[in-house]
Amino acid sequence: MGAERGSAAGVVWDLSGLYGAPDDPRLDHDLAGAAADARAFAARLRGRVASLAPAEIAAAIAEYETIEERGRRPSHYASLLVAADAGDEVAKRLADRTRDAWVDVVNELTFFELELKDLPDDRWASLADAPELADCRHWIETLRQLRPHTLSEAEERILNRKNVTGRETLARIFDELSAALRFRVEIDGAVEEVDANDALALLYRPDAALRERAFTALLEGFAAHDVVLAGIFDGLVHDHRVDCELRGYADPVAPTHLENEVRAGTIDAMMAATERHYGLAQEYFRLKARLLGVPRLKNTDVYAPLGAAPATVSFAEAGRLVLDAFAGFSPEFAVLARDFFTHRWIDAEPRRGKRLGAFCASLGPSATPHVLLTWADTPRDVATLAHELGHGVHDRLAARQRPINCQPPLTLAETASTFAELVVTRALLAREPRADVRRDLLCAKLEDTIGTVFRQNVLTRFEMAAHARRQDASLGSRELCDLWWAENGRLYGDAVEMIAAYRWGWTYIPHFIHSRFYCYSYVFGELLVLALYRRFEAEGAAFVPRYLELLAAGARDAPDVLLRRLGVDVDDPAFWDEGFAVVASLLDELRATLRDSTSPGS
Ligand SMILES: [Zn+2]
Repeated sequence: MGAERGSAAGVVWDLSGLYGAPDDPRLDHDLAGAAADARAFAARLRGRVASLAPAEIAAAIAEYETIEERGRRPSHYASLLVAADAGDEVAKRLADRTRDAWVDVVNELTFFELELKDLPDDRWASLADAPELADCRHWIETLRQLRPHTLSEAEERILNRKNVTGRETLARIFDELSAALRFRVEIDGAVEEVDANDALALLYRPDAALRERAFTALLEGFAAHDVVLAGIFDGLVHDHRVDCELRGYADPVAPTHLENEVRAGTIDAMMAATERHYGLAQEYFRLKARLLGVPRLKNTDVYAPLGAAPATVSFAEAGRLVLDAFAGFSPEFAVLARDFFTHRWIDAEPRRGKRLGAFCASLGPSATPHVLLTWADTPRDVATLAHELGHGVHDRLAARQRPINCQPPLTLAETASTFAELVVTRALLAREPRADVRRDLLCAKLEDTIGTVFRQNVLTRFEMAAHARRQDASLGSRELCDLWWAENGRLYGDAVEMIAAYRWGWTYIPHFIHSRFYCYSYVFGELLVLALYRRFEAEGAAFVPRYLELLAAGARDAPDVLLRRLGVDVDDPAFWDEGFAVVASLLDELRATLRDSTSPGS
C-alpha cells in the first residue's frame, strides 16, 4: 500500500490537541457548556450593553470570546475529520450535530455585536479612549462602520427574506447551470465530454491546438446560454445598485472597501499603477512566445508548459527544503514551521475521500492550526507546502492576540503565505545551476504574478465598467462581451492574440456572481508581498523582526496602520511601483537564463 501512496504515505495529522476521538466525552461537555454559558451571557446582558462601564464591556468581550471559541471547537474538529475523509459517516454526523449546536450558540450571542454596533455615537465617543478597551477598540470600530448603512430591523428582515428569492436564486441558477454544462473536446483522437474544470485544466497541456479547442468549446458552451447568463449578471448588478441606494453607499465598490478596511483612493492608485505596468506582462508574453517558438502568443498559450520533464520531489526532501529556506529568512519563522512536522499538524498523504486542494485551518489562540494537502511529488506541491506553512506560522504568531484580534484582515490574509512561497522560490533559484530548471521556476513565478496581479486587475476593471454602464440601461450580452474584450485588450496589447470566442470570457467566472469586486484583493495581496520582499532584499535582517511583528499583530488594527509600522504607506501611489520592480527583475533573470541556455532564439 505504502508505495502507491507516494512519498507522503503515513503523513497523517494528529488532532488529539483538539479531541481524542469522535466519541470523546469532552465534545458534548463543550457543546453543552458553551450553550449554557451563552444563555446565561444573554440573560445577563441583552439590552444592557450601552449602559455598561468600560471595564464591564472589556469583561463581557472576554467572556464572549471564551464562549465563542469553546462553542466552535467541536465543529472545527468535526470539519477536519470530514476534510480528511468525506466518506466517514461518523464524522459527517458529528459535523452536522456540532454545526447545529454552534449555530444555536451564535444566535444566542448575536445581540452582543449588534448592541456594540448600535451604541449611540456620543456614548461610543465617551468609551473609545478608555484604557480598558484599548485592544478591543479596532474590533468595535469595525463593527460600527456598518452602522450608517444599516436599515431598521424590520427593513433588514424584509431584505433578508427577499434576497433568498432574489439575488440568491440568481446565483443558484448560475451555479447549477455552470456545473451541469458539458463540453465536447477532441482529446488524443477521441471526442470526450468534459466539465468546466476539466476543460480549463486542458489549458496546461503541451498541445496548442488542444488548448485552443478546449477553451473554445468551453466559451461557446457558455455562450449558448447568453440570455440566461447576461440576465443573471444584469440582475445582480441592478440588485446591488438598488442595495447601494437604500443603504446610502455613493459607489458600488464602497461596501467592499469598507469590508476590506481600505480607502477608495488607495485602490484607485493601485489599479492605476498596475495599468501603468501592463507593459511588463506584455514583455513576458513576448518572451514566452520565443520559448514556445511561435511568432505571437495566443491567450490559450499563456500557461503552456515549456516541455522540460517535471522533476519529482519527495515529501521529506520538500520539508527539508522549505524549512532550510525559511531558516535562511528567519530562524524564528523556521522553528514555528518545524513544529508542524514534529507535532504532526500536517495531513499530506494522498487518500481516497480526502478533500481536494489545500488549506490551513485555525480555531484561535486555544488550539494549534492544522494543514491539509495532497502530496503528489511535484514541484508545485513544494510551493503549496510553503504557502500553507506560511498561513500556519501567521496563525501561530497572530494567536498571541486575543481571539477577536487573531484573524488577519482579508487584505493581509495571504501575506505570510505568498511571502513564504517567494522565500522558497528564491532559495531554489539560488542553489539551482541548471538553466532550464531556473527558467521553469522563473516562468512559474511570473505566470503566477500575472494571474494574480494583472489578470485580476482586468477582472475588477470589467466589473467596474459594467456597474457604471448599468446606471443608464440594462446590460445585454453584447455589451458585456464588448466591455470584456476591451479590458482584456488593454492588458494583452499587441503581444497576445485573443481567440475569437474569448469575447465570452466573462460568462464562466464565479467571482462576479458570488463575491463582487473581490478580485482586487488578490492584486493588493500579491503586490504588497512583492514590495515587502523588495524591502527585505534591501534591508536584510533588520527587516525580519518588523515583518514578524506585522504578522503577530493579527487584526489588532486596520491594515494601513499595521503596515505603517513597517514603514509601508499604501496610500502613497508610488508604493505600488516597488512590487513591479520585483516583476521587472524576475524578467531580467529570465532573459539571463535564455542567454545561458542554448534554446532557439537566444
Ligand atoms: Zn492562501
